[in-house]
Amino acid sequence: MTQNRFRITTVAAIVLLLIILVLIMVFTLTGVVPKESFSVEGFKVVIDASHGLPDKGLVGEITGKKESNYNLYTAQVLESRLNEMGVATVMTRKDSNALSDTRQDDLALRKRIITTNAPDAAISFEIGYREDKTFEGPQVYYSPSSEKGRILAEAVQEKLNEEFKIAGRKAESREEFITNAGDIPVIVIEYGNFSNPEDELLLRKKNYRMRVAGAVIRGLEAYAEAGN
Ligand SMILES: [Zn+2]
Repeated sequence: MTQNRFRITTVAAIVLLLIILVLIMVFTLTGVVPKESFSVEGFKVVIDASHGLPDKGLVGEITGKKESNYNLYTAQVLESRLNEMGVATVMTRKDSNALSDTRQDDLALRKRIITTNAPDAAISFEIGYREDKTFEGPQVYYSPSSEKGRILAEAVQEKLNEEFKIAGRKAESREEFITNAGDIPVIVIEYGNFSNPEDELLLRKKNYRMRVAGAVIRGLEAYAEAGN
């Protein structure tokens, strides 16, 4: 009898201990994860790596590297970081090929992916080339007909400015087929410039693409936190 009672007490103590451990784990997890990282939770983001073979896009003058590849790598970094945060993503292309052999069809197919998915935001990655070769670092564009696009573009430009220590650069309005998508905010990010030698060398680095993606995510968070 005493032995049975001892066993029951031991089992009860172990069960109680397990319950306490589970509770500690639950409280620790909910307490440790900062709320801010969930501000884009529930968001769906379309990520567009512009160009794709046979369209190489720009080719670096020093490195001979193709813009189409860099756009894909940058899109992939953003995709994986958003997915880690639990944000749903749709890529317009997942390999080195464009969606069509003609630029016009390719753009139309990308736009269809954006409009049929109706995401909270769409980001198109591009590399810039300017007459002013001193212009360096990322520039964000939005459609003149999209108010939400402007808000998103300004939020992302601000975070890119912070990340790359750019003073006072503003997101710019530019008429473009891809960004003109009704209610859906679509922005184009020229995340570097092949016209600037320093940018061209930076664009080779994975770390640079990680920094771009990080700033884009902070921009998306600011956009979401503002109630968009
Ligand atoms: Zn391009």
